[in-house]
Amino acid sequence: KQGTGDGEHVAFYSQDMNQGMQERMRVESGLRHALGNGQLMLHYQPKFSIQTGHIIGAEALVRWHHPERGMVPPAEFIPLAEATGLVVQLGEWVLEAACAQAQAWKEAGLPPIRLAVNVSAREFTSALPGRVRDTLQRYGLEPSWLELEITESTLMHNIDRVIGIMDRITALGVTLSLDDFGTGYSSLSYLKRFPIDTLKIDRSFTTGIPTDANDCAIASTIISIAQQLKHKVIAEGVETVEQLAFLKDSGCDEVQGYLFSKPLPAAEFEKALKESWGREG
Ligand code: C2E
Ligand code: MG
Ligand code: MG
Ligand code: MG
Repeated sequence: KQGTGDGEHVAFYSQDMNQGMQERMRVESGLRHALGNGQLMLHYQPKFSIQTGHIIGAEALVRWHHPERGMVPPAEFIPLAEATGLVVQLGEWVLEAACAQAQAWKEAGLPPIRLAVNVSAREFTSALPGRVRDTLQRYGLEPSWLELEITESTLMHNIDRVIGIMDRITALGVTLSLDDFGTGYSSLSYLKRFPIDTLKIDRSFTTGIPTDANDCAIASTIISIAQQLKHKVIAEGVETVEQLAFLKDSGCDEVQGYLFSKPLPAAEFEKALKESWGREG
């Protein structure tokens, strides 16, 4: 409805805002419900060594199987979960589910891999290292099974506190990778202080390879920064053989993307892992 006077416009906008708020509350209570009712699940996207072509890891990505809306992608609920703080409980669920899955793969005698879990800035508190340690212990998992992917937004506040938490996590033997690298605001002077294992080149740069000269320059610069700082480097969102060839020539260690595999349900990932290492059945 078009309003005619200012008053009506105000009413119009506030009704709009109200609807946004209602939608938020609806999604929030739905998500809260989903957490307790088995509507969340993890898919696993393989990570490959460029040199050997083997699957050397996987990234756990949360999925919400909504009874009416079907599969809701994380882009539609993670930001809300972050804004409301619900992401802390969500993160606990994800860590638990990922470790349970890793334990099952370990007991089934599958090749050991490193399973990465995404961790939001709000989850990155002084309670996290203890929770990670307890969860690993509960599942009898060596810490080398687990990696945490953090984004630059985690590193933006109180850097000394964040580095303290990072140190406690890496002291356990769990590795850290810096996700979506290059899209945030972390400064190079801090980068050298972070006890991270891997830099993850953001998909927005991978996408422009090999046609966009700037994206090529950024990707190869990130690779050489990683090499100089003695970090591993992985490119996400690899979709073409040309991108793979460029990354291989530039010295990238690992790749992940639709060229190789989309995120897979556990059983399908398991099959891909066995095939990758030449063990059928
Ligand atoms: P991310 O951690 O950067 O994950 C990569 C995203 O890119 C995933 O989307 C993945 O499915 C998608 N992707 C991978 N390869 C390709 C490719 O070749 N082409 C294209 N077009 N896309 C590709 P997804 O699963 O929708 O997740 C989106 C984001 O949601 C993630 O970005 C991450 O930030 C967040 N997220 C997902 N699961 C969790 C979780 O358990 N906890 C937290 N805190 N965040 C999560
Ligand atoms: Mg990630
Ligand atoms: Mg990423
Ligand atoms: Mg990303």
